[in-house]
Amino acid sequence: MNYVFQAVRSLDIQDEHAIIIESKFGKSGKIPERRVDVIIRVAVCGAAGRMGSEVVRAIAREDGLELVGAVDRHGLGSDAGVVAGISPLGVVVSDDLRGTLTGTAPDVMVDFTSPTAVAGNARTAIGAGVRPVIGTTGMEAEDLAELGRLSAKTGVGVVVAPNFAVGAVLMMRFAEMAAKFFPAAEIIELHHDGKVDAPSGTALKTGEKISKARGEYRQTAVDSVTKLDGVRGGCFNGGIRIHSVRLPGLVAHQEVIFGGLGQTLSLRHDSISRESFMPGVLLAIRQVVGLKEMIVGLENLIFE
Ligand code: NAP
Repeated sequence: MNYVFQAVRSLDIQDEHAIIIESKFGKSGKIPERRVDVIIRVAVCGAAGRMGSEVVRAIAREDGLELVGAVDRHGLGSDAGVVAGISPLGVVVSDDLRGTLTGTAPDVMVDFTSPTAVAGNARTAIGAGVRPVIGTTGMEAEDLAELGRLSAKTGVGVVVAPNFAVGAVLMMRFAEMAAKFFPAAEIIELHHDGKVDAPSGTALKTGEKISKARGEYRQTAVDSVTKLDGVRGGCFNGGIRIHSVRLPGLVAHQEVIFGGLGQTLSLRHDSISRESFMPGVLLAIRQVVGLKEMIVGLENLIFE
């Protein structure tokens, strides 16, 4: 990552201890400075998947975090570290989320599964008093609202972030700023061909932010003659077009193109490896233990 970003947070870990964690993203994208007085116990749901195994590797490298549970439909009975391509961690992959949570008593459950599984997993975690950190995209709006209510009612903190890459969060923030000056915009999101939901959660969230920032504006384009269905992308909130590209070789990328009189402005973010999401995931794990409600969007953890 080429940016320097700093976030300093204070949080209380309920129950046993009160601690201060100072976290800072440096040029390495790591969190080099902190004082850790307790170990945060983490279970990963989707631990054998692309993102879940990256999270397992990140937790194994990170002081102050301990992997205590791993859930997936693949790699059953195998060590989660081995499934993730590193040394054994002494945690066996299970397909029983509820049993894993009650048997290992994690503080936090990280979920990178699928749009159909995520809401149920989060409800199970909250029911067991375990704080969900949700990276899975494509959750239904009603499910998200219900999780918010459940979190507020139980006091079990939740973090939901459609994009844990700090660069993507900054790109959304810059898009919000640009929309005030360039209300006409189209979004192109590009992902690997294994992604099941389209458009991406990040594209939808960017569209929402642009819509809100530009206010009343009806985007028009002369496109009444189209020779292929969907060639102009999907139409979102007041005319913002979203185009989804799916190709092998891609990871997660997005470009927002703004058009004005005689000029365009392009904002682009590229996650070229899944490591790009890890500083954000680790930050969310550390912060969710101090929350008593649901926070949606990494920006709400890192911006003042
Ligand atoms: P993936 O490689 O398919 O991994 C998901 C894993 O979860 C698979 O092994 C899958 O098994 C398993 N799984 C699904 N439902 C399950 C259930 N009910 N119980 C146990 N295991 C279950 O997918 P991925 O590329 O890691 O992506 C996962 C999610 O993260 C997607 O929604 C993606 O859009 C999102 N994502 C978010 C971010 C972010 O920054 N927030 C970044 C990248 C990706 P099966 O193969 O049997 O389904």
